[in-house]
Amino acid sequence: MALIVQKFGGSSVADARRIMAAAQRAVDAKRAGNQVVMVISARGDKTDELIELAKQIGDHPPPREMDMLLATGEQESVALVAMAVQALGEPAISLTGYQIGILTDSTYTKARIRRIKTDRIRKALDEGKIVVAAGFQGIDDDFNITTLGRGGSDTTATALAAVLQADVCEIYTDVDGIYTTDPRLVKAARKMNRISYDEMLELTSLGGGKMHSRSIEFAKKYRVKLLIRPAYTTGEGTLIAPLQEDENVPMVSGVALVKSEAIVALRKLPDRPGVLAALFSKMAERKIPIDMVIQDVAEGAIAEVSFTVPQDDLAEALTAAQQAVQSLGAGEVHHGTNIAKISVVGAGMRTHTGVAAQMFKSLSDRGINIQMITTSEIKISVLVDRDQKEAALLAVHEGFNLDQEFAAPPSIGYRQENDHAANDVSRDELEQDVVSRLASMEDIVVSEVQLDTEQSRVTVRHVADHPGVAAEVFAAVAEGGVMVDLIVQNISQGQQADLSFTVPRGDLESCLLLLRELTERWPGTKVSFEKDMAMLSVMGIGLRSHTGVGEKMFRALADAGVNVQMVNTSEIRISVVVAPKDAAKAHEALLTTFGLKV
Ligand code: ASP
Ligand code: MG
Repeated sequence: MALIVQKFGGSSVADARRIMAAAQRAVDAKRAGNQVVMVISARGDKTDELIELAKQIGDHPPPREMDMLLATGEQESVALVAMAVQALGEPAISLTGYQIGILTDSTYTKARIRRIKTDRIRKALDEGKIVVAAGFQGIDDDFNITTLGRGGSDTTATALAAVLQADVCEIYTDVDGIYTTDPRLVKAARKMNRISYDEMLELTSLGGGKMHSRSIEFAKKYRVKLLIRPAYTTGEGTLIAPLQEDENVPMVSGVALVKSEAIVALRKLPDRPGVLAALFSKMAERKIPIDMVIQDVAEGAIAEVSFTVPQDDLAEALTAAQQAVQSLGAGEVHHGTNIAKISVVGAGMRTHTGVAAQMFKSLSDRGINIQMITTSEIKISVLVDRDQKEAALLAVHEGFNLDQEFAAPPSIGYRQENDHAANDVSRDELEQDVVSRLASMEDIVVSEVQLDTEQSRVTVRHVADHPGVAAEVFAAVAEGGVMVDLIVQNISQGQQADLSFTVPRGDLESCLLLLRELTERWPGTKVSFEKDMAMLSVMGIGLRSHTGVGEKMFRALADAGVNVQMVNTSEIRISVVVAPKDAAKAHEALLTTFGLKV
């Protein structure tokens, strides 16, 4: 007998008719021979209404009472759904988070789950009942009611599926599934049948899809198969599951747009250990998740760090950045607005060259200038002018033929024959091992620190800041079959930009040749390189959204006296480039900090 968790969002239980429809789904699944646990959100806009009401009483409602209040929304809906199931002739029992025993920490309004008791649910299931569980809520050690943060029912559902070892966790929503990009902005957007956890984590963190990102972290940690399905039709939806080991992993799965980002740039910083630690700790204090962090190779003894934040967090981020600069004793804080972030995500890009080149080319063909670039293993992000955001999204979606099921590979680039698949398996095992030892279900997972001493760094300085330059650079490199990693292009000052990236040392010579040939035509452009570089990567889950990981990492490096030359962050990896002489002690420091020393 299979165990299925079915989660229904607020709109899927908004009124009596929809409640009956949701109940019918569960009843059908049960009658097909399954055990069924339903997880229900508050009806319609109930949560918003309650928040609004609380605000009419006071500007800053006490968080404990807020959770007490908000949890009622789900209590109402589970009771109604359980009545509906019974009206359809199946036994059912509604349970609040408290009654189930969903134990959380005490961070009201954004509590994290620690443990979940399963006996009561198991017993009810064994008695043949459909269990109707309240989403979004739990209790802390002192029996206070807590909530998990807006949209938290997805997380409840995934967590219940994890502890019950459900066969699948179905998330019923008002969309057909996960699309290659926002279908409201790009008509040709296509619903995907399947996407991997890592890709979905990157897309959710970018605002793609509609899932609570913590639920994807849960799913990945505990290997829960998530099926995103339409509530009102029979559509098959999208399966979020481990990466399939087959040849057809698309290079690019989706493109995400974050409409309003802002850049913060710290200039004239001292080029010494501790700069990033200061910055990350100030941001972590305020729980500001920063993205597109770039520390480029310093010129002179002066370093520059830039990063992006959601526009809404800009004021906070600037205050934090000022504090960081003060504590360092030097530096200037600048910022820029009116930008948007476009990111392509795809598990297949690990083994392909040319993905970056293709993305940059798609943009330059439409005359769109790129202001900043960062890449990670499965994601490339660029900043463009906010006025060009829709055009940019469309250009990239078309450039990768994402409207087609099996997108043709880009014209440039090749597939690397290596053992990435085998690599992934061991990476998976490491991760599962760390997860099995977690004290608390939502603890941060850092599963591995990789050291790669076979890297070289290439920098192309003073390239013209106009569309097409980055495309030409990476097209040239990709045509030579060179796998580039960790690309950064910093915000241009004046009319020029600097591009840096890493390449495997064995490819350095051919890469330099290609670049020199290209840049001969560009007066003023200078290619420099450093042959021996080391790259360290901390691998894990939800690294960017748990703001404390970067802080811990850079503190450890600073304490070990390691100067970081380049940085790059994503949900699943934070990478730094350091001098070879520092590689061993940096590796040691990171393994120790994250408790990975054997
Ligand atoms: N009712 C809560 C909210 O709207 C939780 C949820 O819907 O997932 O944020
Ligand atoms: Mg809701």
